[in-house]
Amino acid sequence: FEKIPLALNHHDELYQMALTFNAMIDRLEAMFKKQEQFIYDASHELKTPLTVIESYAAMLRRWGKDDPEILAEGIAAISDESRRLNSIAEQLLALARSEDVSYELQPVDAANLCRQTAKRLSQSSNRSISVKAETPGLYAWTNEEKFVQVLVILLDNALKYSRFPVQIEVGSDNDFVTVTVIDHGTGIPKEDLPHLFERFYRVDKARTRGTGGTGLGLSIAHSIMTQHGGGIKIESEEGKGTRVCLQFKKVVDAS
Ligand code: ADP
Repeated sequence: FEKIPLALNHHDELYQMALTFNAMIDRLEAMFKKQEQFIYDASHELKTPLTVIESYAAMLRRWGKDDPEILAEGIAAISDESRRLNSIAEQLLALARSEDVSYELQPVDAANLCRQTAKRLSQSSNRSISVKAETPGLYAWTNEEKFVQVLVILLDNALKYSRFPVQIEVGSDNDFVTVTVIDHGTGIPKEDLPHLFERFYRVDKARTRGTGGTGLGLSIAHSIMTQHGGGIKIESEEGKGTRVCLQFKKVVDAS
């Protein structure tokens, strides 16, 4: 696209139209740039495990037959990296789906769904996740599946980056039902906080690679929350822990 040269009279209607048109072009250009960057980042993330798989396969080809230690190491590395590729592919799909708004919203009993999800994750991870809900009957205007998807992202992180019990607090703040996931783990450095919703952003790539993170979880959560009129806020202190607060529109009369 070409911008319109602004050599017209400032009061002219055409001049105003040209201004609007040029602003639209700026926005489109920014969108294309973002999309380009995303494709670049996604390819990079997919290529890294593939390179590791390729080099281990070469190592196995040369020495695998004669050395059982190399054989075991190679197979373990290849299956780890394949799992990682699989999880990146799944997260990319989840990210694409998070922008789809065709799902239905309905009143959801927030505390109830938090308890069910906490129980399930606590059993599978063998870790303690408690739910505190002082006001009963708080209904959030959301979609059950999306609610659980976002909550699981936050709980997974809380469990991954902390060794201590995790808490969920369900409450209300003016017109919103709030669900806060609290952990007392590593926390997040201040300079990283503004970037957490960026796709593929990880605080410490070396450290989080070991924990199997892709850097997509919070951007999926952010996209889902903003798509249906909710919000997500993160407070964290390094070495102390993290609080991630979800805000859903409150249903005043759920009957
Ligand atoms: P990942 O899949 O790497 O966990 P996320 O988008 O969910 O990706 O999170 C982005 C980064 O934010 C993580 O890599 C991690 O560094 C940091 N992070 C997220 N949640 C927490 C938490 N509860 N405690 C400490 N760090 C966190």
